[in-house]
Amino acid sequence: MHKPVLIGSEIYRVSSFGGAHPLSIARVSSVMDMVRALDLSDTDQFQSAPRAKPALLQQFHDVAYIKALQRIERDQYATEQDQEKFNIGTLSNPIFPHMFKRPATSVGCSLLGADCVAAGVKAYALGGGLHHGMAGFANGFCFLNDLVFAIRRLQALGLGRVAYVDLDAHHPDGVEAAFPDKENLLIISTHEENRWPFLGSLKDNKPLKNLNIPLPAGCQDSEFNLVLDDLILPVLTRFAPEVIVVQGGADALLYDPLSRLALSNNALWRALRALLECSDRVLLTGGGGYNPWTVARLWTGFWAILNDHPIPKQLTPRARGILGSLSWNRKRNLPSYLFDTLYDPPTEGPIRPEIKDLIQRLKSLHAI
Ligand SMILES: [Zn+2]
Repeated sequence: MHKPVLIGSEIYRVSSFGGAHPLSIARVSSVMDMVRALDLSDTDQFQSAPRAKPALLQQFHDVAYIKALQRIERDQYATEQDQEKFNIGTLSNPIFPHMFKRPATSVGCSLLGADCVAAGVKAYALGGGLHHGMAGFANGFCFLNDLVFAIRRLQALGLGRVAYVDLDAHHPDGVEAAFPDKENLLIISTHEENRWPFLGSLKDNKPLKNLNIPLPAGCQDSEFNLVLDDLILPVLTRFAPEVIVVQGGADALLYDPLSRLALSNNALWRALRALLECSDRVLLTGGGGYNPWTVARLWTGFWAILNDHPIPKQLTPRARGILGSLSWNRKRNLPSYLFDTLYDPPTEGPIRPEIKDLIQRLKSLHAI
């Protein structure tokens, strides 16, 4: 069995959405650095993502939109019409120097990951996970949608039954919109209820197609673990996927500024371990995550799990130095464990009645 591959690119180190944007923080580059600092990888496991070409991108995205993205990147200017038609030049989807090259690299990242997985190698496409991207416009910090390309590529390479599992705090509206009635594709999403993009409610469930799990604010590890064990894993096992694409967004963690979910990284690490038990073929991607420390620690742990390595209990001085050097333009009142260890304290507690009710309703809707 080949060792897993970690796919990134230096473009994530040098590009930024701009000072005030949640994606102005280091994410992919800090994980790559942490993995090196903790000796969690052999040199031959790193791969650099190629940038997807416009001709390839046009297989999903509208030609006019791809042309506009390239033009706006070149001119660093969007007209009023661009803003209206393509949703570019907004607070969420700003104009910045790598606004075409960076998402095009994310598509290359997830496509390379899909090719590896189809060849029997597990892959972590760290730069991927742009689950809000739409065919003809930018949406929710996502200018393109790498996940759509990866799912299509896997199916084209003969892996017919694909399960897509989205652990991000936001609903994957771009992925869902791209596959309204795709055969042999099960889309599972846990996300915070009543949060942008305000989709994925109980009524947005279709047996064997869409399992949407709207989690109430404050959802903690004990509740998430129960949702995983009683709902996600039975639905997934029954579907019997040939491959699982996991969007491993980090914004459902406590101390992420963009959600009110309260998971510790233990719950998401446990979820990845369980998903790896469900299929030999797993493509993991990045996703949301807007606190530089919680992102770096979760994703570094994900990489250890993909390799079947224990997650290091102690940080090396170099790893500690990387966490210490991360910067954030938000007001900080963070606990010291975010800088001292990869492990969050578990957020355990009683299961609230609304979680029990949610699980029961969804079990009944999906005949589990
Ligand atoms: Zn998100």
